[in-house]
Amino acid sequence: MNKDLKDKTLDELEQIVVEMGYKKYLAEYIFHFIHVENTTDIAQITPLSKNLRGQLTEQNYYISQLSTLKKLTDKDGTTKYSFALGDGSLIETVLLMDSPREIILNRQSHCNSVESNISRGKGRKTLCVSTQAGCAMGCTFCATARIKLRRNLTAAEIVDQVNLVVRDASCVARANYAIRNTRDAGRITNVVYMGMGEPLLNYNNVLKSVRILNHPAGKNIGIRHLTISTCGIVPGIKKLADEDIQPRLAVSLNAPNDALRTQLMPINAKYPIANLLKAVRFYQERTGQRVTFEYVLIKGLNDSVNHARMLAKLLSGLMRNVNLIEHNPHPGCGYAGSDSKRIKQFASILEQAGIETTIRFRMGRGIKAACGQLGAELLPPNNRTPQ
Ligand code: SF4
Repeated sequence: MNKDLKDKTLDELEQIVVEMGYKKYLAEYIFHFIHVENTTDIAQITPLSKNLRGQLTEQNYYISQLSTLKKLTDKDGTTKYSFALGDGSLIETVLLMDSPREIILNRQSHCNSVESNISRGKGRKTLCVSTQAGCAMGCTFCATARIKLRRNLTAAEIVDQVNLVVRDASCVARANYAIRNTRDAGRITNVVYMGMGEPLLNYNNVLKSVRILNHPAGKNIGIRHLTISTCGIVPGIKKLADEDIQPRLAVSLNAPNDALRTQLMPINAKYPIANLLKAVRFYQERTGQRVTFEYVLIKGLNDSVNHARMLAKLLSGLMRNVNLIEHNPHPGCGYAGSDSKRIKQFASILEQAGIETTIRFRMGRGIKAACGQLGAELLPPNNRTPQ
């Protein structure tokens, strides 16, 4: 049995405390100290009696913590953290401050008015967390794919990325602005499961981390501010639709037909677009939620006028919005990002078809923290050759 208290929901902590012969409300102190105070030592949970703390320690319960290896901040304010897991595996996590900066095309807008629609985020702090060390999905535009899958992260390892970044952001804010309320200063407003790995292939741990992050006695991040992004794991989407807790769903699509999508994302051979969209429709029927489709624009490959028209047709009838992301280069990847004129043209076609479209600003590219770049610096130099 896993004895890491950080890996437990509040319900599970209550069960542990009750089985030891104590009142279940004491579990809330444990949960609060771990997820709000960032305590890693059972002895410091002082509202618990010495006896209970002693019993927990005697029964080998502990509170895990990731090791922070490196932190890099880009000039646009994006910060990338590299964390080491207990077994030496490495993951990366990205904090987007006041972000993402974006261009939203209104339904009435035209291509030549795009610049006037640039909006800066409104004080949002979005954390992009990893769910696996490496990834088995093999998407050809993504640096993480080249690390290969080492293992799934535990719920504690997912949650701890948030805990450590909140603590660091609080320290930075306090140092810069002499803010006394460090908890608010470091508060993360949104968590997106879009870092290294495929979240729906680590389903149970990902969902448990959602429950922990969402709980009012802990980080209390609203369920609509937690987004799970998938490359298209159809059984996982259907399973998520039937859960009692429903985070937002994003689907990384990247191509409007099966031939091109399979070339970019090999998982498409197993779950082709028609099956994927059927699962998305099922998800929408069950949850009533809009789904976001992510589309990475690669120069000369998936960014033509024809591709945009096919995409608009494909997504008609769904409750959806589309995020367009310029492909971000990384060592060993032969693709180039589409130019801004082409991206705006692509967006305009979707918008004319009635699809709300957002062009994502390429945050963190200077420190290899942008979409598709995570893990690029974790590869040994002799493994950075083109695929
Ligand atoms: S894009 Fe996501 S699913 Fe695809 S290889 Fe990268 S991390 Fe894995």
